[in-house]
Amino acid sequence: MDDLPFPERHLLNPKLYWDISYYGLPTTWILPARGCPFDCIFCAQFDRNTKSVRYRSAKNIVDEMESVVNDSGVRNFAFFDETFNLYDKQVKAICNEILARKLRVKWWCAARADLIIEETARLMKKAGCIEMRVGLESANDEVLAYLRKDITVEKIRRGLKILNKVGLNFSLQCIFGSPMENSTTIRNTMEFIKEVGPLFVSFNVLTPLPGSQLFEEIKNTIDINALNSFDILHTDFPLGTYSGTDLAGIKKRLILPTTLALDT
Ligand code: SF4
Repeated sequence: MDDLPFPERHLLNPKLYWDISYYGLPTTWILPARGCPFDCIFCAQFDRNTKSVRYRSAKNIVDEMESVVNDSGVRNFAFFDETFNLYDKQVKAICNEILARKLRVKWWCAARADLIIEETARLMKKAGCIEMRVGLESANDEVLAYLRKDITVEKIRRGLKILNKVGLNFSLQCIFGSPMENSTTIRNTMEFIKEVGPLFVSFNVLTPLPGSQLFEEIKNTIDINALNSFDILHTDFPLGTYSGTDLAGIKKRLILPTTLALDT
């Protein structure tokens, strides 16, 4: 991976690219690794059969960050690999490299809650991590099992408790519309969100994206042309209790600030 050149960012105007986590400040994306060994049914990232993960060296990643800072002045980064905290030794190496160079940067990363380690979370915060984006998907174990997340609500709770303890912000991503989704499972998720206190939540609707296991399992039963209207706001492929219109309505309602959505 280290043999690949850095992206030619000078071709873009950095001021035009920003991220919600930095409140509109210029942000750039970095890919520290490629691949993921997990099996989530909705995931269309990479070939799920290989399950291999390829890493860049910490030096190479931080070289890229340093060149961004020197060339454009942008100091806000998004680590856009699938699961940044998959390999603890690598996470620590990246953090230590940032700290050794006294690089003043901020970054967020995508993470699995069950792999959160307190000592590493503290080091990440020290090295500029401002947020971990965690895939909650649902706070119902039956839904998580269907989604093949290989995780439980309790394990997610334990990981997020660590982040709250060390004062590292996190956001959550949820997916509604599994076949067993009902008002109880939705309430489970909303109550869990209220309990753990994320920075923000993104609500999505389960969609059989080409490349995902879900797509492979139902592709012969659906009109794939309907995927042309895919927009994460609704689905044309309802899998259970709720119709596509229901799910769009639920999502619209939940998109209100969490407390409001729970209280109404
Ligand atoms: S959703 Fe994330 S953890 Fe699950 S398979 Fe895809 S990349 Fe891996």
